[in-house]
Amino acid sequence: FLSSRAKEPLRLKDIFIAVKTTRKYHRSRLELLFQTWVSEAKEQTFIFTDGEDKDLKQKAGGSVINTNCSAAHTRQALCCKMSVEYDKFIESQKKWFCHVDDDNYVVLRSLLQLLSSYSHTQDVYLGRPSLDHPIEAPERVRSDGSTSVKFWFATGGAGFCISRGLALKMSPWASLGNFITTAEKIRLPDDCTIGYIIEALLEVPLTHTNLFHSHLENLQRMPAENVLQQVTLSYGGFENRRNVVPIAGAFSLTEDPSRFKTVHCLLYPETEWCHRTNCH
Ligand code: UDP
Ligand code: MN
Repeated sequence: FLSSRAKEPLRLKDIFIAVKTTRKYHRSRLELLFQTWVSEAKEQTFIFTDGEDKDLKQKAGGSVINTNCSAAHTRQALCCKMSVEYDKFIESQKKWFCHVDDDNYVVLRSLLQLLSSYSHTQDVYLGRPSLDHPIEAPERVRSDGSTSVKFWFATGGAGFCISRGLALKMSPWASLGNFITTAEKIRLPDDCTIGYIIEALLEVPLTHTNLFHSHLENLQRMPAENVLQQVTLSYGGFENRRNVVPIAGAFSLTEDPSRFKTVHCLLYPETEWCHRTNCH
């Protein structure tokens, strides 16, 4: 217990947060993230996109990474981005790799608290399972595809985290373009491929957590008093405008359709634009 007592507390700067985006969402989605949680985590948030944008560069500087991956919503293009995210994390020397989408809000203090209960030197893969059962896929990496493997994977749209210890072990299948080769072999999306490498190839189990959220679930069902304790939040797209977290505050649904501004002002009430409706 001496060593665990002597352990240095985890700090925000120990976490590498990768945000996956695409050129057409720079305005409609990223802007909101810069206004809210990213502004509290500038040093550790990296934006992975697919097109040049001078305005974004000016706002975010060196933390924007143009992956040169295709802007198509194809498995190849998405796996290309994940592959660059992985390589940049390895380069960064940080203790934790966390991936989120550009429609996620990251509650930084919940993230820090969650990761603090694990060691980055151990094998840790944390996230929300995408399905309520493991996925079954033909084994095309270790054999010819005549047998199948079952594994859990964390849904990318809710975000997930991987310890550095585990990320280093993924290197033969994930680094320097190998991720794309692996994904092509099993013909599955980027988040599935991560699960395949970790659960099937490295035999490290996914730690299931309900603290990560995507708009695939019914976000309205989250108890209001628990919203700020979650690690990630999301919101439904245009086709599902009302799939948002149930939280009230200074902004109406029209002013803040994603609820991210409302969440942000509850977490950081000192933020300049949060004062605007108060008459003082
Ligand atoms: N995305 C991308 N390229 C595309 C379309 C989407 O990189 O051509 C990213 C997008 O920015 C987001 C993630 O992929 O971070 C998921 O996209 P979206 O939320 O539009 O779709 P979902 O799969 O969640 O319905
Ligand atoms: Mn989405």
